[in-house]
Amino acid sequence: MKKNAKKSSKKKKNIALIAHDGKKAVLVSFVRDHLEDFKHFTLIGTGNTGRLIQAAGLKVTRKLSGPLGGDAQIAAEVATGKCQGVIFFRDPLGMHPHDPDISMLMRICDVHNVPLATNPATAELLIKGLPG
Ligand code: PGA
Repeated sequence: MKKNAKKSSKKKKNIALIAHDGKKAVLVSFVRDHLEDFKHFTLIGTGNTGRLIQAAGLKVTRKLSGPLGGDAQIAAEVATGKCQGVIFFRDPLGMHPHDPDISMLMRICDVHNVPLATNPATAELLIKGLPG
């Protein structure tokens, strides 16, 4: 009985969702195509990305917008073991004022061996491969 209670109260893994403006539509479409998969996780996201994901029907804890420090906040979650996966659809053709924060988030994922998906093909592997 106790064992079962423990199992059902197992904390969901936390995934972060971020997309640059040029990739937001791609991320929203990816999320809509994987709504059931995402329900197995708790979600955090940068400000504007998070709002769009909420509109797609999922609960998201929103951090600051990326350029205002949202990527840095998510990096802090990764560094402190509170975020187990990051889906970050970067726009490889765009210029970003917060490039240092973006590099820092990617570095922190590498430091802590946290899976980081930067395109839909890899994100597919991440959400299928990360146990919920
Ligand atoms: P945003 O930030 O979701 O608030 O637009 C994303 C980013 O540019 O890192």
